[in-house]
Amino acid sequence: MQSDLKPATSVVPGSGLSLYVHVPFCKTKCPYCDFNTYQGIEHLIGPYLDALTTELQLWGHVLQRPLVNTVFFGGGTPSYLPAGSIDRMLETIRGAFNLNPDAEITVEANPGDLDLEACRRLIAHGVNRLSIGVQSLDDGLLALLGRRHNAEQAICAFQTAQEAGFSNVNLDLMYGLPGQTLTQWETTLQRLLGSCPSHISLYCLTLEEGTPLHRWVQQGKYPEPDPDLAADMYQGARRLLGDAGYRHYEISNWALPGLDCRHNMVYWLNLPYLGVGPGAHSRLGSFRFWGVDSPVAYIAAVKRWNESGPEPFDRLDDQLLQAVFPVANQEYIDPDTACAETMFLQLRLLDGMDLQQASASVGTDLAEKYREEIKDLIELGLLQQHGYNLRLASSAYLIANQVFTRFV
Ligand code: SF4
Repeated sequence: MQSDLKPATSVVPGSGLSLYVHVPFCKTKCPYCDFNTYQGIEHLIGPYLDALTTELQLWGHVLQRPLVNTVFFGGGTPSYLPAGSIDRMLETIRGAFNLNPDAEITVEANPGDLDLEACRRLIAHGVNRLSIGVQSLDDGLLALLGRRHNAEQAICAFQTAQEAGFSNVNLDLMYGLPGQTLTQWETTLQRLLGSCPSHISLYCLTLEEGTPLHRWVQQGKYPEPDPDLAADMYQGARRLLGDAGYRHYEISNWALPGLDCRHNMVYWLNLPYLGVGPGAHSRLGSFRFWGVDSPVAYIAAVKRWNESGPEPFDRLDDQLLQAVFPVANQEYIDPDTACAETMFLQLRLLDGMDLQQASASVGTDLAEKYREEIKDLIELGLLQQHGYNLRLASSAYLIANQVFTRFV
């Protein structure tokens, strides 16, 4: 990459950034999961927490203590970390960054890890949103997914979180599972809706190559998921959640009014975020970059970066990023890519995008640049336009990725 061809870009705008903290530990690895997460490496938790502390302090230093509006502890299983770990990280973040007093702070949790004391401790340290990986309330499907909780524990974890004082709780659910019936799916949704979670994320199972579940389906041990049935499950969920007062605000996400996930909105609006921890992705200025996946390599890389004594950044370019040792890969986001990303990320939001505002943010007239594509997609009934507002038609929700290829 020729660094002299790339313009220096401002590092963090005054409006601040979002922070993602990756936790690469799980007690057991689910057979469908291809995330950068591991079981059986608990001996690395201590060195990882030390490295994460250092990495946070170094980023706070080089970015000159920027404003942080949202923090998301994801993984992996952040709730699997020893008691006090999240508190320690939040203390480090408060010391190294300018944490907005109104920040949304989310922790992903496994139902088996949540008791009253753990929830109260998180709240006492400023965590104000939980995201619980429920996935299903059918014990047979939970076993197929290799989850370490059953339906009763999932319900109990959610009620415990509410009792501790969490008023903003997301529940993750999965559909399109091998052998899953529409009745099982709707029963899960109806039972959970009875407890009024503030936010629900629905994920259709993707059989990722290389995972045990993919292999088992290939071998005929489990039936191939039926895409038509998965589509019926999605449409059924839209009906049930809509009737229960949830706002469908993103293709896979529903929230009670005012409780959209602010952290994820940053991704969809293509705003700046910093990812720390092994393999975490960042988007700052005109660069996207991501770290080394291996927790061992990550710990060593943070040590090297610390020893190099980095100076505060007054710009961000590829040479500076090369000296950030935990960063393994970087991509310059050229203007064409920035335009395409703005289209397909913002169109995930069901309120659509404001073409005028989006054009101003990328410095290109998007209506003009994509005139033909937009016209074709409207004629096909996949997009709708009213003035400057452009949005997906509801008939396109399930084929959104195919629609978005028109902009790439
Ligand atoms: S708990 Fe989540 S991150 Fe961990 S293995 Fe299972 S699906 Fe993957």
